[in-house]
Amino acid sequence: MFDADDIKQNIPVQSPVQPDQLTLDSEFQFNCHKGVTCFNECCRNIDIQITPYDILRLKKRLGMDSKELVAQFTVPFEMDGHGMPGLKMATKPNTKACVFVTEDGCSVYEDRPAACRYYALGNMAVRPKDEAKVDDIYFVVKEAHCQGHDEPVTQTVREYRHNQGVDKYDEMNREWRDLIIKKRSSGPTVGKPSERSMQLFDMCSYDMDSFRDFIQSEGFKSVFDIADEEINTMVEDEEKLLAFSFRFMKQVLFGELSIALKEKAREQRIEQRKDIWAERKDDEVTKYREDLEEQKYCGDPD
Ligand code: SF4
Ligand code: SF4
Repeated sequence: MFDADDIKQNIPVQSPVQPDQLTLDSEFQFNCHKGVTCFNECCRNIDIQITPYDILRLKKRLGMDSKELVAQFTVPFEMDGHGMPGLKMATKPNTKACVFVTEDGCSVYEDRPAACRYYALGNMAVRPKDEAKVDDIYFVVKEAHCQGHDEPVTQTVREYRHNQGVDKYDEMNREWRDLIIKKRSSGPTVGKPSERSMQLFDMCSYDMDSFRDFIQSEGFKSVFDIADEEINTMVEDEEKLLAFSFRFMKQVLFGELSIALKEKAREQRIEQRKDIWAERKDDEVTKYREDLEEQKYCGDPD
């Protein structure tokens, strides 16, 4: 893919991203607190990507369902040239200020997104050339308005991550991040994903309420061999549900079969539709077969 030297060379001259690559044990000077003269400045000019675990935390805090939260507090964007759906934090009308910033600071502080926790560190997932594993590298992000870099506090990246509660967020989002990196790296071998795949990606990433309904549907249960007990556990526990949704996406997008399929499920579905196919023109049948092929992984209801 690319290495750290490539990244350094590609940092624009005016970028606030500092060129030195940090490890977990590297030290850097920074402290943010209510007493700094720039308090809240960073939240008044935001460009924050939202992750699946951010959604889980925020919806729980605000007592909303996924769709409400996404509609009210995020804006959509495309993560790549193939329309992979992403979300960014919404801003207050006609400003670049975060919807959650108040005079007293962040109104959702304990459940603020991963990107807010990381700041003023930048994190990048890098896959070294010819290796399957993904490495994390860190950079200091030094913006002119941020006085936190002049505060006399030094800590390691590891300590900072711990203090900011980043570890839990990274743990919950890791599979999702790896999935996106894999998608980006796979290029033409996987090809342009279908619109249906992107809809599934959207649901599995940002809409656990719909995904919860989906795994309880007859269509899903008729295709996937999962015990009711396991489904009930996921219905009760959104973190487990989210982890399962990433597995499901790997199956849908990359054919990584980690979720057992019911014996003969696909054959039965084809059998059920023989009469319908007989009445359709050839081109319609071809498209239907393609849809069914995709449902082998999705288990969609009719
Ligand atoms: S969520 Fe909170 S910390 Fe993050 S940008 Fe908004 S106000 Fe700032
Ligand atoms: S010190 Fe930096 S991170 Fe803290 S409030 Fe000021 S601009 Fe934001």
